[in-house]
Amino acid sequence: MKFSRFIPLSVQTVVAYAALGGSAFSLVWLQQRQEVEPVPRVRVWTETAPLVVVDAGHGGHDGGAVAHGVIEKNLSLDIANRLKKELEAAGLRVVMTRSGDSFLSLDERAALAGTHHADAFVSVHLNTDGEGSAAEGVETYFAETKGLSARQVVSTGQGRTAGDGAEFAKVVQRLVCGATKAENRGTKARDYAVVARAACPAVLVECGFITSASEVVRLKEAGYRDKIADGIARGVVLFLQGRALAAR
Ligand SMILES: [Zn+2]
Repeated sequence: MKFSRFIPLSVQTVVAYAALGGSAFSLVWLQQRQEVEPVPRVRVWTETAPLVVVDAGHGGHDGGAVAHGVIEKNLSLDIANRLKKELEAAGLRVVMTRSGDSFLSLDERAALAGTHHADAFVSVHLNTDGEGSAAEGVETYFAETKGLSARQVVSTGQGRTAGDGAEFAKVVQRLVCGATKAENRGTKARDYAVVARAACPAVLVECGFITSASEVVRLKEAGYRDKIADGIARGVVLFLQGRALAAR
């Protein structure tokens, strides 16, 4: 596969800005695992690194979906932990809504974005469909009630806002599908409580269908979960880089 596929236009733009900015920027190349081509990680934040709240769906008495011997809460936490590592490797700060098998309400999860003045919020879930369904693939949700475009955010000087969810979802969805080769089911606007109530751009990633006999096999492989985490992390980094540059 071609290298250019993994260098979205926005990164090229970032690199151009970085070249202009000289010593104000530093280029960090992160060695990618498996056969995935390396992607430049460009750090455009010069002071405090952005903070990302990573939310492992469900937990405690709320197991989430169950299928093919998989309990959603366990898989979502596993992927969330891998995502945390990837984001920290890219220089970001991370707060987990849960690090163990504990229950939090949706409001408690969303509130952590405000408590920590988060720059982005990512909720990790696994999808389900009817028994025997062949449905598979990845889809990313954003809240439709957070409609501010990046341009509006900049022009009104609001700094951190809840807007940009659609743009955030698009980049995450694209990079997760690129990393995993999973079926791309697109981005969808839906006011799930965690994304609608988080006080920052927020997405909910449905990482695959545990009801799919074929996809669940891949989801049970640690290497595949690494690819999911890697794709989400790249999407988060790209999104935050774009915002940091737009805010200059
Ligand atoms: Zn779920």
